[in-house]
Amino acid sequence: MSEQEFRRALGYATSAIDLLKRATIPPYPQFYELLYTYATGVNPSLNARINAIFRDGHPSADIAERLYNEFLKAQDANERISGVSQRMSNRIGAIHDAIDTAMTTANAYSASLQVASGDLGDQDLDAVKLRVLADALLAETRRMQDANHQLEMNLAASRDDIEALQRDLDDVRREALLDPLTKVYNRKAFDDGLLRAVDRAREHGDHLCLMLVDIDHFKRFNDTWGHQTGDQVLRLVAMTLKSNIKGKDIAARYGGEEFAAVLPDTDLEGAMILSDNIRKAIQAKELLKRSTNEKLGRITASFGVAMYRADDTPSSLIERADRCLYAAKHRGRNVVVGETDLKDDDIVAA
Ligand code: GH3
Ligand code: MG
Ligand code: MG
Repeated sequence: MSEQEFRRALGYATSAIDLLKRATIPPYPQFYELLYTYATGVNPSLNARINAIFRDGHPSADIAERLYNEFLKAQDANERISGVSQRMSNRIGAIHDAIDTAMTTANAYSASLQVASGDLGDQDLDAVKLRVLADALLAETRRMQDANHQLEMNLAASRDDIEALQRDLDDVRREALLDPLTKVYNRKAFDDGLLRAVDRAREHGDHLCLMLVDIDHFKRFNDTWGHQTGDQVLRLVAMTLKSNIKGKDIAARYGGEEFAAVLPDTDLEGAMILSDNIRKAIQAKELLKRSTNEKLGRITASFGVAMYRADDTPSSLIERADRCLYAAKHRGRNVVVGETDLKDDDIVAA
């Protein structure tokens, strides 16, 4: 952090604490983080909400807590899955209770029927006794009908709830496979997908290619334009990659500013053409800073492409694609190198 950045951060901190005091919100770290984010202006929708709250003049710790949870609290997939499981088991508990109640009522009904059938065998059963018996049976039957109706309603509500929970769970599962910043698959999903693709290629003898992509001089870009703008560029590259692949292909964020694509049923020539199209598409984008429309120039990326061989494992395939990527960097960047065009004088390892 430069001295200038430090001074700016200190300025934000002081004004954030001031603001908390005026709003009589306790200076807990999460509220401070909220206002720090506000002061830096990096999240325009958060700022719009905070402005509206101050305009209305009703800031409170409660509202701040809600904003913090909505905008800043990183709720990980595990936390969400356990939330859904908890709700699911509450629901199942409620169904058990409803069934228990219904069974108790049904047992009571069956006992009443038995008593009634005994009473009906009574020798001196007259019209009055018969009437009392019929009334009692009618009341029991009504109780039974009510209990059945209650059970039906409970089960229907549970079915709707469980369907909603199932959808939540599917969403969480899907999200757990994605990189939160770029929304392409994350490293874990890539590793699993590549392993499956390698197994399939081995089993069926199909083609399979792996493309590795690394943004050129990205450190310099971040240093010039800031990390937040760098993040936007990562999103843009991910989107370009994703929009150029299809079907069974898997586009993933492999690491910081590196991406990968698993390309089943694709030979090296096809993978090279695809990589070059993506390379050109990235280079063609003129970058603009959203907040100011300032021109940021263009970025480029280098590509390494390898094709599956009979005894490859995921790591041997990655290693060859990585050697190609390394060669691409040494050839001057913004190029695609496939494993068949590695030359003897290519530098392929550090
Ligand atoms: P080269 O052309 O050799 O790949 O140069 P480079 O600067 O891209 O490579 P280097 O490995 O030196 O630096 C990678 C940079 O990528 C460092 C870091 O600033 C940036 N980076 C990695 N992850 C992220 C991220 O999540 N967001 C942003 N904004 N930048 C990132
Ligand atoms: Mg890199
Ligand atoms: Mg790089």
